[in-house]
Amino acid sequence: KAKQQGRNAYEWFTEAFTDSVSERMVLRNDLQEAIEREAFQLHYQPLIDQRGQLAGVEALLRWQHPSKGWISPSRFIPLAEATGQIIPISEWVLKRACLDMQALTLGGLGPVQVAVNLSPLQFNRASFLTTLRQTLLDTGLPPEQLSLELTEGILMDNTEAAIDTLQALRSMQISVSIDDFGTGFSSLSYLKLLPISTVKIDRSFIRELIHSGDDAAIVQGIISMAHHLGLRVVAEGVETEEQHLRLMAYQCDVFQGFGLAKPMSIEALKNFIASLSTDSSPYYEANE
Ligand code: C2E
Ligand code: MG
Ligand code: MG
Ligand code: MG
Repeated sequence: KAKQQGRNAYEWFTEAFTDSVSERMVLRNDLQEAIEREAFQLHYQPLIDQRGQLAGVEALLRWQHPSKGWISPSRFIPLAEATGQIIPISEWVLKRACLDMQALTLGGLGPVQVAVNLSPLQFNRASFLTTLRQTLLDTGLPPEQLSLELTEGILMDNTEAAIDTLQALRSMQISVSIDDFGTGFSSLSYLKLLPISTVKIDRSFIRELIHSGDDAAIVQGIISMAHHLGLRVVAEGVETEEQHLRLMAYQCDVFQGFGLAKPMSIEALKNFIASLSTDSSPYYEANE
């Protein structure tokens, strides 16, 4: 036990060390270069509905660093958020996602709705809606095919202005989801004030769903209350068939997780969509 803790402390130390000021400055320069060279990729993770059909995909950013390999977005997004680099990165993400969905439609595999994650800095900018409208115009993507994911924190910070922006998005026919739901401080009564369409239950509640009565109760409670408010529910982090079946029994609307499909390139997504229409049970095979 003590040894275990010692090791954790050491790992924490090295982690802190690699995230030192100079390391962050190097990463920041590398990010700048990646932005200029457009060295990012977007992967897409399928969302599957109760009937086993594609409900949409979530766009997830990937950065292959020239010497460090793949760097997780949970590591470089907070940095890009702190430096403001998130703005050009987000513009690239939005445009790429719209173009890729248009390509699916042209290839006879669409229309597919794509969910794009928003950063707080991006959402709170005065030019946010203008940039969004322009990207839809430039790419020709019908706005119903775009959905945006926001975390509870973004909405809590500046509720009045946030509600105005959400209303504008609704009038543009763009749907909005609350991401990682249950990890912030928002209550379901607060949800009724927001013009949103979907809540995504954070994967931390799905992880122990089968073995924790508490998590099972929380998940059922979120689903039932969200449905009463007219909201659609997505479960994140569905890894096993047992979790999937349990969530189906709880009337969860949509499922996302490695057990159904991992994030994949646009090329792989094309094959996935094609296989969905021919094979009725593609799940839990690619997993191991
Ligand atoms: P998120 O929006 O909650 O995205 C879901 C994350 O869960 C993704 O991690 C996905 O790969 C992972 N995931 C999906 N299914 C499972 C599962 O069954 N088990 C486990 N353990 N994980 C699963 P990823 O791609 O590393 O992204 C991490 C976070 O980085 C995202 O969390 C999102 O907050 C942020 N992010 C990713 N792309 C973008 C982007 O383009 N813009 C912004 N602003 N943030 C992004
Ligand atoms: Mg998300
Ligand atoms: Mg999420
Ligand atoms: Mg999450």
